[in-house]
Amino acid sequence: MNHAHSQALFARAQARIPGGVNSPVRAFRGVGGDPVFFREGAGAWLTDVDGNRYVDLVGSWGPLILGHAYPPIVDAIIEAARRGSSFGAPHAGEVEFAELICATMPAVEMVRLVSSGTEATVAAIRVARGFTGREHILKFEGCFHGAGDPFLVKAGSGVETLGLPDSPGVPSALAKLTLTAPFNDLAAVERIFAEKGQDIACAIIEPVVGNMGVLVPRPGYLEGLQALCQKHGVLLVLDEVMTGFRLARGGAQELYGLKPDLTTMAKVVGGGMPLGAYGGRRDIMEKVAPAGPVYQSGTLSGNPVAVAAGLACLKALAAPGTYARLEEVSRMLEVGLLAEAKAAEVPVTINRVGSMLTVFFTGEPVYDYTSAKQADTARFGEFFHAMLNEGVYLPPSQFEAAFVSLAIGEPEVAHVLAAARKAFRSLGKTG
Ligand code: PMP
Repeated sequence: MNHAHSQALFARAQARIPGGVNSPVRAFRGVGGDPVFFREGAGAWLTDVDGNRYVDLVGSWGPLILGHAYPPIVDAIIEAARRGSSFGAPHAGEVEFAELICATMPAVEMVRLVSSGTEATVAAIRVARGFTGREHILKFEGCFHGAGDPFLVKAGSGVETLGLPDSPGVPSALAKLTLTAPFNDLAAVERIFAEKGQDIACAIIEPVVGNMGVLVPRPGYLEGLQALCQKHGVLLVLDEVMTGFRLARGGAQELYGLKPDLTTMAKVVGGGMPLGAYGGRRDIMEKVAPAGPVYQSGTLSGNPVAVAAGLACLKALAAPGTYARLEEVSRMLEVGLLAEAKAAEVPVTINRVGSMLTVFFTGEPVYDYTSAKQADTARFGEFFHAMLNEGVYLPPSQFEAAFVSLAIGEPEVAHVLAAARKAFRSLGKTG
């Protein structure tokens, strides 16, 4: 596969953009080599600037659940843009959108739109602190909640891929307010709450972790966390930036029967446009300015083009059978990948919930940060490049989730599995 044009662009990019990319994990630091520059996406397929084609299992890191350039979303974007790209003032679309989000997620009684997941999580923490009058927060090791200062403590995703300690530039006084516990360990939360519960505003968690690769909550874990939060007056913030509208129409909270106090959203909810949201209990959300004293704002918040894309996306996902189909295709991929790894005698553990999936290069179970770190990242890198060479675009890090889209059908599954057969066998020989 020739990547001459990508390489030339990357050389130029590195001169003017830090690391040559506008978000760290795109730089292939987790797998080695240079990133691929893309020209076009259509349905399940991406075409790079050298004309190579790939089945896309990244989907822009989650938003593209309907595939690339899904026609009803493209039409909605064009139509909205023709009426003006931004008003900085209220419009009808955002009211319809808020009503639709609240109807889809019953725990969300009021919602505020923002422009990214990071904005949503930063705002949710501020509201939780403002509402409770407490300053500490609890997060879970390996969970990533965006690049906000309170979260760059034992964060997964790009922070993990780059092997960075917690980021310079985050004041230590602020970082000290972020407590951490291992994922899937209720006893640890119990200990922390017993000692410091009255100082903790909220616990924020990815209900299914995507940012350490996929980690699956043990049965009863999320319910237990919710009960502990209630007992100690700690708000539960479910970060559904990845899982919202993906694991079920009503997100992980629908799948696991949870009722979080606050929910953060982005990715799927914006249909591929820059849009995020946070919402939850009415009494908490009424603290947000101008209804209440907790300040949060945004020039492009509720942007009419982004809202039009989000509305078109959520409406398409309401079609009957959507999530059953996504589950079926994702299961075919999981079963097929596992079979190919076995046939090539490459030990792997595949974690999957719905359309989020990670192939960990370890034969041991992976259920938290420590067990995920046992995976062989060098082997993952070899696998990644072998798959890329066969026309499959995987997330370029062992510690990221692959996302399956509704554009992936049986031909694409067959393409991925044929690629995986070759890729696992090439590892089998060198491993
Ligand atoms: N929360 C979670 C769970 C995420 O996965 C991400 C991004 N991958 C974020 C928050 C931050 O979202 P954004 O990149 O849109 O700021």
